[in-house]
Amino acid sequence: MSDALVLDADARKRLIVAVSAQVIAHADELTALDSAIGDGDHGFNMKRGFEAVQASADAFAAMSLPELLKAAGMKLVTTVGGASGPLYGTLLMALGKALPENPTREQAVEAFARAIEAVKARGKSDVGQKTMLDVLAPTLAALQAGAGAAQVAAAAAEAAEATKPLRAIRGRASFLGERSIGHVDPGARSSALIVAALCEQWSAS
Ligand code: ADP
Ligand code: MG
Repeated sequence: MSDALVLDADARKRLIVAVSAQVIAHADELTALDSAIGDGDHGFNMKRGFEAVQASADAFAAMSLPELLKAAGMKLVTTVGGASGPLYGTLLMALGKALPENPTREQAVEAFARAIEAVKARGKSDVGQKTMLDVLAPTLAALQAGAGAAQVAAAAAEAAEATKPLRAIRGRASFLGERSIGHVDPGARSSALIVAALCEQWSAS
């Protein structure tokens, strides 16, 4: 198929390194967000997980895209911990399961939609509850609307900011009730950072 996404091992490695570096570089910011409405470990958790992914970059890059995503997802489950580890792990594993090796844009968007459903099932959560889903779902919507890399990244960043006025219904922040209002959700922000790193690679390709 002419419009299929074909990533060679070098491109797969660049993707892994870019996403990991982005998360690691923003660990303090994520920790600060989680300190406001959670237990202050999101940055540390994510840094630990993505350092482990980065350390396996060569091994993962040698795999096909679906296998890479499953392996990275499993790595996140075992290294990130907290609520976000199993959820990001589920996202990547479900994406790996749903994607063909060289997906078309349509297939990639469809696989992302299925992966978001898997996160919802795993988290017993939905959009509007002040979680990572409040970034993942608008990112999907932008992709479904045919947006390009810069637009998708902007939509994700805006969606993360838009979690500020929400009251948390799921996760640790929900324990704060009304006091969760007025802060950006840490998982929403980490999702936007990951989307931004992916979009940067996408526009460079
Ligand atoms: P913990 O809350 O266990 O300390 P983290 O701090 O690593 O875990 O991650 C918190 C983030 O996980 C939240 O900001 C939110 O985005 C996400 N999250 C928590 N619970 C859920 C859930 N049930 N569904 C979707 N996302 C969730
Ligand atoms: Mg936390």
